[in-house]
Amino acid sequence: MKARQILRVLASLVFASLLLPAWLAAQSKPLAVMDGQLLTSKANVPMLKINGREQPLSAETPYLLHTMQDKRLEGRDVHLEGISKPDGTFEVHWLYTVHDGKLFSVRYFCPRCNIVALEPGNCVCCQQPTELQELPKPENSH
Ligand SMILES: [Zn+2]
Repeated sequence: MKARQILRVLASLVFASLLLPAWLAAQSKPLAVMDGQLLTSKANVPMLKINGREQPLSAETPYLLHTMQDKRLEGRDVHLEGISKPDGTFEVHWLYTVHDGKLFSVRYFCPRCNIVALEPGNCVCCQQPTELQELPKPENSH
């Protein structure tokens, strides 16, 4: 009796894992694009100024949220790729700064230790502030 119950649970787990790839594929819709100016100063909720209105932003990862709260990026032209959420925010998956119509990836770098950090703050190694760097986005790649 017990063994049969265990088998039933195992069978349903196998079934769920077979369905998962199809479910994930259905979730990966193409990302929407928003171009505008990043506003970092509004009470910890980053905003995108786009066509004269302000779009509240959220982020897929805490690293990205912290990057969008970086005062050094205040007022910058940015190109965002993400998903409009039911709560009215735009959930950013990729952020680029724009210079002369070209896209740049944002990263944080410690020149003393020669290491890259995922978000603004102090270097994990030497505890000195990291530098914000912008690198040209490679073609056909995030
Ligand atoms: Zn360092």
